[in-house]
Amino acid sequence: MRVVVTGGAGFIGSHLAERLVREGYSVVVFDNFSSGRIENLLSVLDEVEVVRGDLRSPSDLEKAFEKRVDAVFHFAANPEVRVGDPQEHFENNILATHNLLEAMRRHGVRDVVFASTSTVYGDAKVLPTPEDYGSMRPISLYGASKLSCESLLSAYAHTFGFKAVALRYANVVGPRAKRGVVRDFVWKLLQNPRELEILGDGTQKKSYVWIEDAVEATLHAWLATQGGFEAYNVGSEDSITVVEVADIVVEVMGLSGVHYKFTGGVDGGRGWVGDVKYMHLDISKLVSLGWKPKHNSREAVRKAAKNALEELKP
Ligand code: NAD
Repeated sequence: MRVVVTGGAGFIGSHLAERLVREGYSVVVFDNFSSGRIENLLSVLDEVEVVRGDLRSPSDLEKAFEKRVDAVFHFAANPEVRVGDPQEHFENNILATHNLLEAMRRHGVRDVVFASTSTVYGDAKVLPTPEDYGSMRPISLYGASKLSCESLLSAYAHTFGFKAVALRYANVVGPRAKRGVVRDFVWKLLQNPRELEILGDGTQKKSYVWIEDAVEATLHAWLATQGGFEAYNVGSEDSITVVEVADIVVEVMGLSGVHYKFTGGVDGGRGWVGDVKYMHLDISKLVSLGWKPKHNSREAVRKAAKNALEELKP
């Protein structure tokens, strides 16, 4: 079976590509290398086909579909959750997804798995938040663009008979992650081991999922879905505060007496405009299909801190 992984040179995409190769799939990585790195694919470079191209360009996309394709894992995006440039979010997420779905339709490919996000829920009033939470009100451009992509997927499933699976990931952590709070804290503490600046008031409480658990969930959800559009939450069973994340990083780095300096943040202690302060996903839908994360948030953050330290240490 031949599958395309868009964003396959990025953090999650490269781990997914490796796993798909191990499972025996022929893998095509489609990436514009804006944040992705060829080094992320080192262990599978001889086995994957790399197509350098941009999803915003329909002619680039044609290159990924020159040979038969059976399914697409769509992981390319502008993953910046902070305000950023609205046009960037529109082009790299919504327009890119539209172009991809159209290329799939033209080439008779009807199977797509999409990297969505917990931020589609916005400030959910129900925690843990289930997939059928009724009031989807993203508070960031990133979340809005991802929810728009999900809407497109749903429409393509119903209109053109696609099987479309959206994974709403919590904070995914692990080797090769180039952003996120864990790496940020490790980096700051390497610069100054006496003081750590924490965005917001530190009480933001979120769920963290280990990369291998997230990849396992992705394959599980894809294979368990028969057809139509389905969304699945992918997180761990708990959530932890930003101060708890800081405590774990400090411990992993063998530091003590670190002074936490809170920026206070915006709008009641959020780290930045559009930061969802409390995120905890109800993962029972995917668990009922046989998937279970092997790590809780604390364990995931601890392992990620060790990796980030190895990656960032001079
Ligand atoms: P990443 O930046 O490491 O990977 C994104 C990849 O997409 C990169 O390789 C980049 O070069 C590529 N890309 C970007 N724009 C492109 C374009 N126009 N055409 C072709 N390639 C393009 O980010 P990541 O953390 O691995 O995220 C992967 C996906 O998972 C994204 O869709 C992101 O929104 C989603 N997601 C990530 C997290 C997380 O915690 N990391 C959580 C929820 C959802």
